[in-house]
Amino acid sequence: MSSTSTAGTRRRRTRVRAAAAAALALVAVGGAPALAATDRPAARDEAAAAPGGAAPAAAPVPLGISRLAQGAGRAIAITIDDGPDPRWTPRVLKVLEQNKVKATFCMIGTSARAHPELVREVAAAGHRLCDHSVDHDVTMDHKSVAYQRRQILDAKAMIENAVPGVAVDYYRAPGGAFTPDSRAIAAANGMRPLGWSVDPKDWSRPGLPAIVSTVEGALPVRPTVLFHDGGGDRSETVAALGQYLPWLTAHGYTFTFPARTAP
Ligand SMILES: [Zn+2]
Repeated sequence: MSSTSTAGTRRRRTRVRAAAAAALALVAVGGAPALAATDRPAARDEAAAAPGGAAPAAAPVPLGISRLAQGAGRAIAITIDDGPDPRWTPRVLKVLEQNKVKATFCMIGTSARAHPELVREVAAAGHRLCDHSVDHDVTMDHKSVAYQRRQILDAKAMIENAVPGVAVDYYRAPGGAFTPDSRAIAAANGMRPLGWSVDPKDWSRPGLPAIVSTVEGALPVRPTVLFHDGGGDRSETVAALGQYLPWLTAHGYTFTFPARTAP
């Protein structure tokens, strides 16, 4: 699928986002490098903030994989993958709340369907939602376009069914296995392809000191950091967040979301 025809399709596309979704929005001012240089959409959040206007139409989102936190200076985006999980998601939510941090939760469709109350809890706390496919198939990039489309759009529907009217702002391919087609499908449906720039490998349970040293090490500019609240024992993740988030706050970082509509 060429990016030109896809961009044209997306430009023609408008989507009215539910009012409930606006409650989750913060001002988007950041940017991320985009693979598609032609993408110059207006920011959704600027539209949402327009005074006295009609319900904002969704701006198309870039095809490029977002790896930067929106905002400026010492902005950082925390992302939490592979939930929701009844054991770990509440604990992660608690540590985020204790540190006044809003994060982005990349949810597996079947888990969202199994635990809709956790999806609601995450959304109600002001975190953003991200589609992480139906089955977390890390070989998605070797599958048919039709399969990828089903995995992406069915998972989006599963998340939306848990919280009617909620915005699903991003799509993160399982294992980062994006394809040009999966990026186009996600973007055409209002979801920015979402990567990361710091991976503490919390899923491999490397031990608390290793996680903390990775995330306290030389952080790239406006990092997007990858953590997990599903897929196994996440006690190290919860403990690491409990150390990491206060450290970041003490070092002047502000917590934001991954860039969504900026290139
Ligand atoms: Zn994952």
